[in-house]
Amino acid sequence: MAEPRQITIIGGGLAGLALGIGLRQREIPVLIWEAGTYPRHRVCGEFISGQGVKLLEELGLREKLARAGARTAESAAMVFGRRFYQHRLPTTALCISRYTLDQLLADEFQRLGGILKTGSRFAAPVQPTEGHVRATGRSPQTLDNGWHWFGLKAHVRNVKLAADLEMHYSDNAYIGLCALERDLVNVCGLFRRRRNDPKPSREIPEMLQGKPGTLLHERLRHGDWVSESICTVAGLSFGPLAKSTDTACRAGDVFRMIPPLTGNGMSIAFESAGIALQPLENFARGSICWQDTERSITQSYFDTFRSRFWWANLLQKLAFSPAARACSPLFCSETAFRFCFFKTR
Ligand SMILES: Cc1cc2nc3c(=O)[nH]c(=O)nc-3n(C[C@H](O)[C@H](O)[C@H](O)COP(=O)(O)OP(=O)(O)OC[C@H]3O[C@@H](n4cnc5c(N)ncnc54)[C@H](O)[C@@H]3O)c2cc1C
Repeated sequence: MAEPRQITIIGGGLAGLALGIGLRQREIPVLIWEAGTYPRHRVCGEFISGQGVKLLEELGLREKLARAGARTAESAAMVFGRRFYQHRLPTTALCISRYTLDQLLADEFQRLGGILKTGSRFAAPVQPTEGHVRATGRSPQTLDNGWHWFGLKAHVRNVKLAADLEMHYSDNAYIGLCALERDLVNVCGLFRRRRNDPKPSREIPEMLQGKPGTLLHERLRHGDWVSESICTVAGLSFGPLAKSTDTACRAGDVFRMIPPLTGNGMSIAFESAGIALQPLENFARGSICWQDTERSITQSYFDTFRSRFWWANLLQKLAFSPAARACSPLFCSETAFRFCFFKTR
């Protein structure tokens, strides 16, 4: 039997690495180009919830993640100032730092014989190329409907939480807290400011800590900030998953980024890797052509995620609407929580 063709993945984030691992398990030769290096801190709530957890299990990684210190999350709370609404998560989530997770996936990919070129930015060809998959993450966009969106993340020690995930909402930000390995707590926020607003002058820990008098501020008052974990990202944008003429083979955020309040972006990265596995194996073994591979992956992505993006964008709009926040008891009822949870997964 002829050797399978090589698949080249551009981007060694979660989607690229999960796809690489899956393909290597099917004995397909894989090369990943990654612009950065491992381990690294990334802006992320580090809360994995949804079908993606299943893919990690299918790839045989659940045990390794547990050994690396991943924690399970069973409860979530929504917090508005001092109003606190706690719920049981309908399905268990996993919490692990990207510092540990990305390194673990990169090690696993190489252990399986994959070739990983780190510190190497791939100069993408204008035309999509046979056997090339783009897993390059979100496309930066300066303004989104008149808003600059940016994310901040830090790890903090000496913080006690009342739920495994706490989401604290305020006028122009929401900030999540969740417990990670080694007694760390992830503090990660999505912030927005108007085009003409001055750039924030406060230090990052101060911004993540919220206003005095809020529960968020209280939680973090005695926290020890891990300075090397502090990171930022800007140029974020959100919106519906609209079909474009781009049928190139892709996985993860490169299609579109889902609003982070769902805690589902990493899951989508893993799930989209799962979607791409079979068509890419078929291509590598010569049973389908590249155009059919691209078409099949793109179509499955839109069919699987379109509705999820729609609901997530609606929830993000509500999260930033003062009128909706005033009705938080209604939106935070058990029924509403479960409804939104399943609609965004
Ligand atoms: C504020 C915030 C909070 C979030 N919180 C959560 C959360 O709690 N839970 C959750 O599930 N999701 C969360 N997310 C989303 C989650 O981080 C992303 O959905 C996920 O990282 C997407 O994975 P990816 O592999 O598609 O992209 P990325 O992880 O961005 O990986 C893309 C990789 O491609 C590399 N790359 C790009 N271009 C090139 C090139 N030309 N050559 C080589 N390499 C290249 C980059 O270096 C990068 O490593 C959050 C996001 C933000 C902004």
